Amino acid sequence: MDHFELRDGALYAEDVPLSAIADDVGTPVYVYSRATLVRHARVFRDALAELKDPHIAFAVKSNPNLSVLRVLANEGYGADVVSGGELRRALAAGMKAEDIVFSGVGKTHGELQEGLEAGIGQFNIESEEEGYELAAIARRLGMKAACALRVNPDVDARTHEKISTGKRENKFGVPLDRAAEIYTALSQEDGLDMRGIAVHIGSQLADLEPLETAFGKVGALIAELRAAGCKVTHADLGGGLGVPYKAGEELPAPAEYGAMVARVTKDWDVRLMFEPGRVIAGNAGVLLTRVIRVKRGIERPFVVVDAAMNDLARPAMYGAWHDFEAVKPSGARTVAHIVGPICETGDTFAMDRECDELVAGDLAVFRTAGAYGATMASSYNSRGFVAEVLVDGDRHAVVAERIGADSIMDAERVPDWLEG
Ligand SMILES: *Cc1c(COP(=O)(O)O)cnc(C)c1O
Repeated sequence: MDHFELRDGALYAEDVPLSAIADDVGTPVYVYSRATLVRHARVFRDALAELKDPHIAFAVKSNPNLSVLRVLANEGYGADVVSGGELRRALAAGMKAEDIVFSGVGKTHGELQEGLEAGIGQFNIESEEEGYELAAIARRLGMKAACALRVNPDVDARTHEKISTGKRENKFGVPLDRAAEIYTALSQEDGLDMRGIAVHIGSQLADLEPLETAFGKVGALIAELRAAGCKVTHADLGGGLGVPYKAGEELPAPAEYGAMVARVTKDWDVRLMFEPGRVIAGNAGVLLTRVIRVKRGIERPFVVVDAAMNDLARPAMYGAWHDFEAVKPSGARTVAHIVGPICETGDTFAMDRECDELVAGDLAVFRTAGAYGATMASSYNSRGFVAEVLVDGDRHAVVAERIGADSIMDAERVPDWLEG
């Protein structure tokens, strides 16, 4: 459920007409709903109510906007970060260092040190090499790094191949059949406090079964480690829960996920940790865009909008579907191709889409753009970075200024020796 609804024939974000935001900030612009973020944060937490003191860390990469992070910090969420930049954002947004988990296969020496110095709660180590490097840095600083070892359970998450992370050929985690050996070895390191296992098999999962299979393997590993005398007090089950991108699409509800987790983990005797991203932020945002013109095509019209693949990459990158709706639907429907202005065919949001009929100047939204939207933007075609707005009841604020193409150009230099 979200708070983007038609009222008297016009689309609103909570109590703010989207047309007012377009007038105020221009288009394209991402619009987030605070009430929707809060609702999703609570639904997810409630789904885990059967568990003892679960730790929930929002996956910052899904939406790193400072105000979005602040909303979630206020809900008691921690952060799952994958870079020094995300770490600094989570801290700046008010997330407690001890509630921050650092994931990622390529944390640099500098990032490992930064995480230690910030006093973050847990490193999710993705290789033995990383473990030894972190141990050395921690020893030098006279610290002990709390760590979970991320395992690759070799489970097919049955999602898009580019966001599948738990198959043996994927770069993430250590192979399950080497995990006990690596965990045992890292447990001997002075600089490390090996305390748990982490797993994350992919994103936009439409089915709980692969998760259950992966969690089962983690449970068996925990038992094996304990039998070998290792300490295991935490298990991080990652994120990955999918959200509906098409009206009417059914996905496993957080409550079903929570019930499955409770059942599978009931004898684990660990503190469970979670890293949801999309399920919190996805339906809490839309990309608001204006139709530049409608171009006659051979079989269908092309609706050319002012948002493009650089603003919302998912359709170009993953062939992803985003519902597309007029902000003031006339009631007339059509079938059209929805495209942006960028000079490559990849800049296509939808082909042969049944949608509201639109004319030049009309406003429209791509729904479910709150996760993996603005965060994946680029400046391709020398387009700037889109502004972001947060709505709260009847008020709204720009929470990220538009960065114009000229500001990006300002960072460039032409060396003297190129002068003609
Ligand atoms: C991306 C990612 C997540 C979040 O995934 P969602 O599908 O957005 O819930 C969680 N954990 C890790 C390690 C990730 O890389």
